[in-house]
Amino acid sequence: MTDRLASLRPQAPGRWRVWALAYGMRRGRRGQHFLGHDERSAEPHPTAYYVWLAVSDTDVVLVDAGIGPSRAAAVPGLQYLGSPVDLLGRFGVRAEDIGWSVLTHLHYDHTGVVADLPNATYVVQEAEWDYWTGPWAQRLTRERWLCAPEDLEHLAGSGRRRAVSGDAELLPGLSVHLVGGHTAGMQLVRLATGAGHVVLASDAAHFYENLTSDRPAPILHTMPAVYGAFDRITELADDAGLIVPGHDPGVLERFPADGADRTGSAVRIA
Ligand SMILES: [Zn+2]
Repeated sequence: MTDRLASLRPQAPGRWRVWALAYGMRRGRRGQHFLGHDERSAEPHPTAYYVWLAVSDTDVVLVDAGIGPSRAAAVPGLQYLGSPVDLLGRFGVRAEDIGWSVLTHLHYDHTGVVADLPNATYVVQEAEWDYWTGPWAQRLTRERWLCAPEDLEHLAGSGRRRAVSGDAELLPGLSVHLVGGHTAGMQLVRLATGAGHVVLASDAAHFYENLTSDRPAPILHTMPAVYGAFDRITELADDAGLIVPGHDPGVLERFPADGADRTGSAVRIA
């Protein structure tokens, strides 16, 4: 453990400190993020890409695994700030320090560096795993491109995959919550922090505006569960200010920058 990691740890058992690390930015369009074509669909809509680091007095958890360098070059318009592993390194956390990798879902921009986490137990909802490894996901081009088979192969072969089904307290003060909607087994992560319960919504709410306008993103598995997820996010967070959407650049403005990261792309959530 580095001195820096020791300094990140909270003192109270069952409490977490949480950071959002942005590893990429892209000039998206509103139509990519809000279902239902309208006159604003062609407008630019800046999009951020994150992993989230959560540290307790005993554990280090990485929520989602971003995009790896090899795939990043193939993502149109992506300004890649670096591998999530490099960002963590600059932050003072080594890949081998990560004991848990909670994967909110198995889209390619959330699994990219799983193979670079040598000690992590990977936490995936059973419904998510079954969908992407089952017969249907491969049938449709619209679905197929969203998943990286090499990342799934790593998860399958690692012997370190922990399947969960539904809601589960993974560690004291850290729970996962199956919501589906965006994908078959999308899960939220809830963390007890000094500021209250934080909810990492990931792509259950890509942007704050998905929640405030009650408007889903177009990539979705089932509509009722998308709305159920919106409600669950709000229920599980102690305050609307403790909800962290998956791709909103506004996260970098709402929360204070962490001085340890010179790129300015890491913020302290709580
Ligand atoms: Zn995503």
